[in-house]
Amino acid sequence: MTSLNFKTLSFKKEGDELIVTLLRLFYTKIPLPELEKIGKFEIKDAHTIVFKNIEESRAEKKFSFLLAKYFEDLRNRLTNNSTTYIHKNSGIPLIGNVSFGIVYRNSSIIEIKPITSCNLNCVYCSISEGLESKKHDFVVEKDYLVEELKKLIDFVGEKVEIHIGVQGEPFLYGDLEELIADIQKMKEVTRISVDTNATLLNKETIDRLSKNDKLQLNFSLDALDEKKAKEIAGTERYNLNQVKEVISYAAEKLNQTLIAPVIMQGYNDDQVENIIQFVKSLKDQPRLGFQNFLTYKTGKNPAKVRPWKDFFKTLEQLEKKHDIKLKLSKEDFSIRKTKELPKPFAEDGLITARIKCPDRFPNTSIATAKDRTISIPNCPFKKDKIVELKIFRDKHNIFNGRLV
Ligand code: SF4
Repeated sequence: MTSLNFKTLSFKKEGDELIVTLLRLFYTKIPLPELEKIGKFEIKDAHTIVFKNIEESRAEKKFSFLLAKYFEDLRNRLTNNSTTYIHKNSGIPLIGNVSFGIVYRNSSIIEIKPITSCNLNCVYCSISEGLESKKHDFVVEKDYLVEELKKLIDFVGEKVEIHIGVQGEPFLYGDLEELIADIQKMKEVTRISVDTNATLLNKETIDRLSKNDKLQLNFSLDALDEKKAKEIAGTERYNLNQVKEVISYAAEKLNQTLIAPVIMQGYNDDQVENIIQFVKSLKDQPRLGFQNFLTYKTGKNPAKVRPWKDFFKTLEQLEKKHDIKLKLSKEDFSIRKTKELPKPFAEDGLITARIKCPDRFPNTSIATAKDRTISIPNCPFKKDKIVELKIFRDKHNIFNGRLV
């Protein structure tokens, strides 16, 4: 009898299929006859599958093969979007793409992105993420991300902040607390900042997170009027009271918190003073950093951009009126220039690469070469196809290439 136990996977039989869930959000279905070919089996508990009459190494090998086969059809439970699991053996490097892995812009803030996907549908979302997203998703193995991050931090050779700012809501990532705990242990890391919409948090999560003294949560809070808050979040399920409770509890329990509302003309500019008053009413006052709404090529863009001069003038007036600091600068975030990471290829260069998975948008693919990924627009996904590419973007080791 062989018992295979997986921390990040859970199993459930449904009809003639085994539903395999990865990190709580992603799933695939394996037909039971496929598993029976390995041997008679039973689901011992949610994380354990037991095969009878087969030795451990053979069971492990055959089951891993089945998982790899059916993970090709991994789906996101929220949206049913197709998803790629990026792990140590996937052959997909973590540097090169802006939506997953590691983004290093030669500054003391290193961004890491373990997941794409969001449980809200904000009207202003700059990446059009959310419950109605039709994009391809990514989820990254935690240990792979930590290993690659350590290598980069060793290369940088100085103190850094790790910023978990994903295309979506990071607390949808089933291993986020473990990821934060691993980064907390890295002596070169001075701060771990996480952008969150707060909807998946509660007092118990904050209590657990408060063990990480380097952690800073950056909350979005765009309105204090319930109707308006739901309208901006794009879903009736948005629970403003819960979000306010989480923010107020986190402000007490964590060393650092920031509230970062996005202000849009005609949507929530009437909410600014309420938000200031709410922040000032908290026992432990978080920093407040209003953001001017900007339009983006891939964003939902519901309003016009307010001229920066007007925006800063309003902040100055509000600072005086409410005796609160509102204008945050680069210095407030301690951003420094750091060592440049070499680029294995440069703009206009011709390279040969291997297609590994779809990219976020339809008809786009991701290829790999020299420990980097390259995004290719207008390129249907064909696994392991070898392609010739002309690089047309190489900034900060984020690569785009055209088929030649
Ligand atoms: S919470 Fe963030 S990622 Fe999610 S829809 Fe809103 S703006 Fe987009």
